[in-house]
Amino acid sequence: MQHLFRLLPSVDAVLAALAADPALAALPRTLLREAVTEFLDSLRADIKAGRVSDPAELAPDQVFPLCARFVAAASRPHYRRVLNATGVVVHTNLGRSLLAKKAAQAAMDASLRYSNLEFDLATGERGSRYSHVVDILRRLTGAEAAIVVNNNAAAVLIALETLAQGREVVVSRGQLVEIGGSFRIPEVMAKSGAILREVGATNRTHPRDYENAINEETALLLKVHTSNYRIIGFTREVTLAELVAIGRRRGLPVMEDLGSGNLTDFAGLGLPGEPTVQRAVADGADLVTFSGDKVLGGPQAGILVGRADIIEAIRQNPLNRALRIDKMTLAALEATLRLYLAPEAAKREIPTLAMMTAAPAALAAKARKLAGLVKKALAGRYAVTTVAGASRVGGGAFPEHDLPTTLVALTPLSGAPSAEALRQRLLETEPPLVGRIEDNAFLLDPRTLADDELRLVATVLGQAFGKGTG
Ligand SMILES: *Cc1c(COP(=O)(O)O)cnc(C)c1O
Repeated sequence: MQHLFRLLPSVDAVLAALAADPALAALPRTLLREAVTEFLDSLRADIKAGRVSDPAELAPDQVFPLCARFVAAASRPHYRRVLNATGVVVHTNLGRSLLAKKAAQAAMDASLRYSNLEFDLATGERGSRYSHVVDILRRLTGAEAAIVVNNNAAAVLIALETLAQGREVVVSRGQLVEIGGSFRIPEVMAKSGAILREVGATNRTHPRDYENAINEETALLLKVHTSNYRIIGFTREVTLAELVAIGRRRGLPVMEDLGSGNLTDFAGLGLPGEPTVQRAVADGADLVTFSGDKVLGGPQAGILVGRADIIEAIRQNPLNRALRIDKMTLAALEATLRLYLAPEAAKREIPTLAMMTAAPAALAAKARKLAGLVKKALAGRYAVTTVAGASRVGGGAFPEHDLPTTLVALTPLSGAPSAEALRQRLLETEPPLVGRIEDNAFLLDPRTLADDELRLVATVLGQAFGKGTG
């Protein structure tokens, strides 16, 4: 073992060898030294544990390239691009919505130059950061007023805190949902200081349930979009219009947490059943909250639209400062909303809308093209076929609605690594590729891959396949 240890190069010798690679040589000296030290320590541990026993494994032509790869991996940004082949358009773990080019450009401009973020160009005095999106939100939704915060969870929190702290909020038992990532209506309610008043049964709630719960402590009637689940069968939900009628009669505001917040009516596009923000406003909701980065297709944001006096109270709530939206997000949000002024252009230019409404024939053609490229890259180790399948919108929208798509299926032939092994290896490629497994096949859905990513998918599959024991 001692002679193996003695074969290990010194840190300085490795650093000198790595200097030949311009990308590595450009790294900060201390980082480089730390990474090399860590690599040599791990080799020492391997020798000690008997995992390395052959002197040939410690030859410079073996050790230096391994170390170069280790250092490159250690110095890579942690937050990176991935290829989304899952077909889930609004994939919360993969960054939800992709921005339209114009929105990304607006965010970049806002970050590289000074701007009129809180500066009124008409007077040269201090202005409001919300002014940039208020008019367009009013125009798109028909609401009297609007304000934006960090995300929809924040929108719900500040709305409840403003309208109902220390008082009761009436909600149907069928709508006490958990959205994922720890957003739960009862818990947000508790944090806001509002008191939850549950009514009805899990599957059925009637107008009289709300009526009977109202007392002098009641501050708000709340409807929550159940987003990622549905109760089916023997059900009864009180519609927003019914709730508004009760609210009007009893002098109580009505709020709807829409979650995804469509501005587009997808009913004509084969995606039924999701309420639009415009509809909620027209039905008389006093306040509507929704996300900027779900089906809307913009940056992470929480949007509140509704009655002017309620929005003003929210604006003045000290919590608003803690939850405020930042300038890059605001710029991207305004640019996204502007695209909605021309709905046809919005469907083309906002990636989330374009992916959701992609034509099945176009997806089939894309799948065939991808299959052709992948077949070449995998050189006969996997059966590469195209099969009919389903994509999902994600983000809690259209939960039980499948979008028809064509998938590329990779099925291992004898001796090739399993679909599960392939899945794991593809997490280490540059960029990593995320797909899904069904019936021992690794599936790629072209819906969430851009046209200019198909070749890259084939390249990383080739890389993954060429690595290790393959
Ligand atoms: C997604 C969702 C939220 C949380 O929105 P974020 O933008 O993730 O903060 C709240 N309510 C509903 C109904 C949702 O679908």
